[in-house]
Amino acid sequence: MLEALADQPRAAQLLTRALESDRVAHAYAFIGPPGSGRTSAAKAFAAALVCAKGGCGACRDCRLAATGQHPDVHLIVPTPPPSNPKGTPLIRLDQIHELERKASLRPLMAARKVFIIDDAERMTPDSPQAFLKTLEEPPARTVIIIVLPTARALPATILSRCQRVRFVPHDDGAAAESVTAVLALLEEVRAGGGEVLLRRSQRIERAKAEALVDGLWRLARDLLLAASGAPATLLTAPDRGAAIVRESARWTTDELLGVIRLCREARDGLLRNVSPGLTMEVLLSRVALRAA
Ligand SMILES: [Zn+2]
Repeated sequence: MLEALADQPRAAQLLTRALESDRVAHAYAFIGPPGSGRTSAAKAFAAALVCAKGGCGACRDCRLAATGQHPDVHLIVPTPPPSNPKGTPLIRLDQIHELERKASLRPLMAARKVFIIDDAERMTPDSPQAFLKTLEEPPARTVIIIVLPTARALPATILSRCQRVRFVPHDDGAAAESVTAVLALLEEVRAGGGEVLLRRSQRIERAKAEALVDGLWRLARDLLLAASGAPATLLTAPDRGAAIVRESARWTTDELLGVIRLCREARDGLLRNVSPGLTMEVLLSRVALRAA
């Protein structure tokens, strides 16, 4: 799931936490512009919800969910009117009724059922009211994920019953900058050792620390891509392609997955008010200096 959410660290953090603490809401609203990865994130989250291990990627539940064939994961998308295949695709009342019917049944394979309503803002005018009824009496062992562009795209009565997860638009320029900044910081700390590390961590502001953690998260993803021979155009910072390929030679896949885990822990820490200086000190000493 983390892979699908590599460039949405905030959403990733919220959802992995829900899974790890087993505090999954009845309904989620994934809110963000098209192209921000909200639908693939919804699918990845659904797969994690039907896997007994929270999304191991290897079991039967995970494999079925990944190919869209899991009997407990239902994707609802706008469809043209039955009488006119060329008509405007909308989410229709009968689809909501069908959701309600399926949600009242027991899961077939997994511990819960998941319904994803993609482009939920395209409901016909009579659908939100029916859907609200389902949300008001949440069916047992059911998680509903609605995907929509803005919080105003559906009535507030619906949104207020969903845990909101925000997806930010891809900002390629800022993302590339953050990767470049982290690469430079790693080199600086490697050259200067513990002294530079301390100087760069002390009195760092929370926002700056968050940006660096996000940048490192993206860099780790780029290094995984570079190590698998992906072209530079797929990297967050394509113009740093050569430096990223050089850097990737220093790491194994497992180590890079470890870096992503560290970034997640650092994000969690910052959210729980661990000092940004301490967070950066630990993260940089592990990643730049490979301290245990
Ligand atoms: Zn699994």
